Amino acid sequence: MNDALLVYLDNNATTPTDPRVVETMLPYFYDIPGNSASRNHPFGWKAEEAVDYARDQIAELLDVESKEIIFTSGATESDNLAIKGIFEMYSGKGNHIITTKTEHKAVLDSCKKVEKMGGQVTYLDVKYDGLVDLAELEAAITDKTILISIMWANNETGVIQPMKEIGEICKKHSVLFMSDATQAVGKIVTHPREVGVHLMAFTSHKMYGPKGVGALFVSRKNPRVKVTAQMDGGGHERGMRSGTLNVPGIVGFGKAAAIAREEMHKDASRLSVLRDRLEKAFFENLEEVYINGNVDHRMPHVTNISFKHVEGEGLMMTFNQNIAVSSGSACTSASLEPSYVLVALGLGDDLAHSSIRFSLGRFTTNEDIEYAIKAVTAGVNHMRDLSPIWEMYKEGVDLESVQWSEH
Ligand SMILES: *Cc1c(COP(=O)(O)O)cnc(C)c1O
Repeated sequence: MNDALLVYLDNNATTPTDPRVVETMLPYFYDIPGNSASRNHPFGWKAEEAVDYARDQIAELLDVESKEIIFTSGATESDNLAIKGIFEMYSGKGNHIITTKTEHKAVLDSCKKVEKMGGQVTYLDVKYDGLVDLAELEAAITDKTILISIMWANNETGVIQPMKEIGEICKKHSVLFMSDATQAVGKIVTHPREVGVHLMAFTSHKMYGPKGVGALFVSRKNPRVKVTAQMDGGGHERGMRSGTLNVPGIVGFGKAAAIAREEMHKDASRLSVLRDRLEKAFFENLEEVYINGNVDHRMPHVTNISFKHVEGEGLMMTFNQNIAVSSGSACTSASLEPSYVLVALGLGDDLAHSSIRFSLGRFTTNEDIEYAIKAVTAGVNHMRDLSPIWEMYKEGVDLESVQWSEH
């Protein structure tokens, strides 16, 4: 690393822990070392008090009851607990789950496990803008459907699903509604009860809290929902998730929720201005730039952009010593696969491979954005200068009609 700016625009992968959160956690490592399940001495009582307080802070952010918050190790575990736990708990009612092709792997792989256990899963397509088709969703419901699992906001594109409308469909057909809201909680208003969500997964480290702690909201009224524990042991968390609670982590998670409740609107309006500035600059500086996903229903701090005829991983290499972003390709064993989320939106391999996700956060500055605009613009120009495909495109060759040889 050189001494040039280091710019972090990968907040959807994880957010920095807010220093105010860190400060709140510190006493719980040494000064207050108790196990919150130790009922017979002040050390345990103090830890339990701290956990209760954090639970209240998180419940307040969600406008739910504290008892409806089940602590886990993160959103991956919460997704597993919700999907497998509902499948097991409601096996007498049915075995069918509906989800979408653009969910996080924690949801998709939990659904695959459910299929192995004898369940049936419908993976809905999404429209070109990333939104689910409500008519298609409703048509997929059968008398065996027990759960609909649809994420609140997508991690790659930031696209926000029509939660209220989906909630109404679930209510009409008496199907439970679960949402992986990891990318939305603490950034926009996410009140599960308001939109008819019965289970909601989220995690601390995507909202300026520490890593390794998350939660699952499980509705206790209208209807009262239960999930079968996936972790057996001491019967913590109302019997739904055993294991000693991560007290410092939970204290930090609570503080992060309290800060988010105070500051999310301020953060969102500041970041949407910076995000729009970034997009506008790319449109002004460069040709053949495309935004992926619905631009009107999307998180304020995220943009997923394809720079056509530029390979995203290569582009990233031109600036990744200084700027952290994510590309729309994933390394699987030997090859570079285009993102399954972008493929589900109907992007061709070329546009998917040429995409970059910029995710801004609470600590992103104007200076960061100006720096990113310069570096990414230079990178795209550099890559295109070297590219025979770009040259052909500029010469007006119809690239769709070119017969590429097999490799
Ligand atoms: C990050 C993420 C997860 C996984 O959360 P962890 O706490 O890292 O396990 C799940 N779903 C979505 C949408 C995410 O963005």
